[in-house]
Amino acid sequence: MHIRPRDETSSTLQQRLFLERLKQYYQSLSLSIVAVLLNTVIIAWGLWTPDNSRTIFVWFGVTIVVSVYRLSTIFRYRHQSDEERERFASRWYVEMLAGAGLSGLIWGSAGYLLFDLSDVGNQALLAFVIAGMCAGSIVSLSAFVEAAASFLALSLLPFFVRLLVEWTTETNLMAAMVLLYLIMMIAFARRVNITVVDGLEMTYLRSEAEQTIERQALYDELTGLPNRRLLQDRLSQAIARCRRQNSQAALMFLDLDFFKRVNDTLGHSAGDQMLIEVARRMKSLLREEDTAARLGGDEFIALLTDIRGDMEHAVSAIRRRGEELRVAIEQPMDLSGTEVHITVSIGVSLLPADSDNIDDLLKHADTAMYRAKDDGRNTLRFFVADMQKALLRRMEVEKKLRVALDGGQGLQLVLQPQYTDDDKICGAECLLRWECDGEFVSPATFIPVAEDCGLIYRLGDWVIDEACRIGALICAEHDPGAFSLACNVSPRQFRQKDFSDKVLTAIDEHNLPRGLIELELTESLLIDDVDDSVEKMHRLRERGLRFSIDDFGTGYSSLSYLKSLPLDTLKIDQSFVRDVLTDPGDASIVKAIISMAITLDLEVIAEGVETREVHDFLVQAGCPRFQGYLYSKPLPVEEFRALLRTATAHTTARQTLA
Ligand code: C2E
Ligand code: CA
Ligand code: CA
Repeated sequence: MHIRPRDETSSTLQQRLFLERLKQYYQSLSLSIVAVLLNTVIIAWGLWTPDNSRTIFVWFGVTIVVSVYRLSTIFRYRHQSDEERERFASRWYVEMLAGAGLSGLIWGSAGYLLFDLSDVGNQALLAFVIAGMCAGSIVSLSAFVEAAASFLALSLLPFFVRLLVEWTTETNLMAAMVLLYLIMMIAFARRVNITVVDGLEMTYLRSEAEQTIERQALYDELTGLPNRRLLQDRLSQAIARCRRQNSQAALMFLDLDFFKRVNDTLGHSAGDQMLIEVARRMKSLLREEDTAARLGGDEFIALLTDIRGDMEHAVSAIRRRGEELRVAIEQPMDLSGTEVHITVSIGVSLLPADSDNIDDLLKHADTAMYRAKDDGRNTLRFFVADMQKALLRRMEVEKKLRVALDGGQGLQLVLQPQYTDDDKICGAECLLRWECDGEFVSPATFIPVAEDCGLIYRLGDWVIDEACRIGALICAEHDPGAFSLACNVSPRQFRQKDFSDKVLTAIDEHNLPRGLIELELTESLLIDDVDDSVEKMHRLRERGLRFSIDDFGTGYSSLSYLKSLPLDTLKIDQSFVRDVLTDPGDASIVKAIISMAITLDLEVIAEGVETREVHDFLVQAGCPRFQGYLYSKPLPVEEFRALLRTATAHTTARQTLA
């Protein structure tokens, strides 16, 4: 084949064009065979004389055989599929050349053998027929200039030679005319060929472009999965099918957990690879009639259709298949040599049980997916109507919290004092309060919302600043000594790149002494990205910040990571403290934490201490610090300062008396 690819795209284009050209040739071939046969009959009949009857007979016979062979090529070509035509392209090319050559030879031999100098009518007839065939060949062989040129040469050159052999002025002139005609015809053939091939190329490129446009409009470019538009189409088909066949379908909303981190740490191309791999795993698990789609980012949809049986069976089948998807995605992935793990949160809405409206189904599945995230991620949740209400409440909280932050209104920090075992105040925890529409909203409600919508950055900055301001007020009246002011830090806030800078700037601005501010972090936050945590903590600790683990015991508590982190304090979670007297399990956990802290040379404090009995138990177990309603509720700043003043006065009085 004469195709020499320069690069892959141009090579596929050339290959496609070549196949198109072959197709065009075989499509027009039958017409040229009919012309050959008609002209053969005319010639045989017109030139027949008793003298040349044998030659004409043989020539006629050969023409018929060649035509039958060429007809057979048409027949065989038509009965092949596109793939076979592509596979045998070079053979079809050779047969095309052979057909054109043989046909050229037929007319060449006619010009050589049947040309009778003595008969002018005979000469004219032959010249007309051959000229006509040559002109026709330019059209029928237009897709291949080399075939047209060989046809022309093979049919005209013998005629030319025959004329030269005679060597009279007349025949020599005719020979010159034939040669000129040949040259002109080849030149025409080239022109026509260029036009035809250009035309084919244009048509091909246009159809390619149309297909690409359609693909881009309906499919996701990265993963090749249907996009939102095509999904909506499939969803409306699924809705119609459910109605018709009385069956059910499930819409699963899949959102990768912490996908952003993959992009941030491994780069966007690794992120892309991961999305492609997730798409591949989804496709391999879904059946032919189901749809895997990508909505954008790390959001995927699995639409499972044709689910039969009663609700209970349907739900358990859907749960099983959702679990299969979840587990498949959870398997380690190899991203250019790095083994990476990702998990997925899945929300499911049911068709028609939850709704038979496309937008609602998507919204419900999305809501259920958020519930799956809230419930610790890497899990599957079905939509239940209450979720919708919860979602609306959440949106309301977000809106109002934004207004509060913009105007700096309604937010305040309250301080809950912390005590030593000899009842001295040794510190306080800053707790956020938000007064919204005349009511106090619990931080347990609005902190998770702020985390989700990103408001936690501004909120967190505000808390740190405010705590430093309060810290400065306290230091102005009291010797900070061993006093510490604890601040809660939420995971997203801590993960910010410039978290440390912001904290240090706030501390410097208020000129706070070393060791005053203690940051309360949670276990899950720390182990989420141990390297980043260790680095940030070391940097802050060098500048005199202290760290405690909040709600200790509820997380992953492993000695090995405790040792690797620069910690100062463990804060025993109030759920253990509350039940130490009634639950032997909690009692042992509390004792274990205290002895672990002593072994690791860490401070330990119990929070949620509400009764004297619990306090006594903790003292017995060796706990040196306490926080809880037994001592005091969280207090507004002024009240806390007043409390601190009286406490200091008492101590001074006692010391003076002593
Ligand atoms: P936490 O850090 O575990 O805070 C302790 C919670 O227990 C506080 O609830 C406190 O008022 C309450 N508490 C204190 N003593 C007792 C007691 O003796 N018995 C009982 N039953 N509860 C007691 P609060 O203030 O509602 O805070 C809830 C959670 O909100 C906090 O839990 C903390 O995770 C979060 N939070 C509070 N303020 C902030 C903040 O400024 N930033 C961040 N990121 N989170 C905050
Ligand atoms: Ca806390
Ligand atoms: Ca706590």
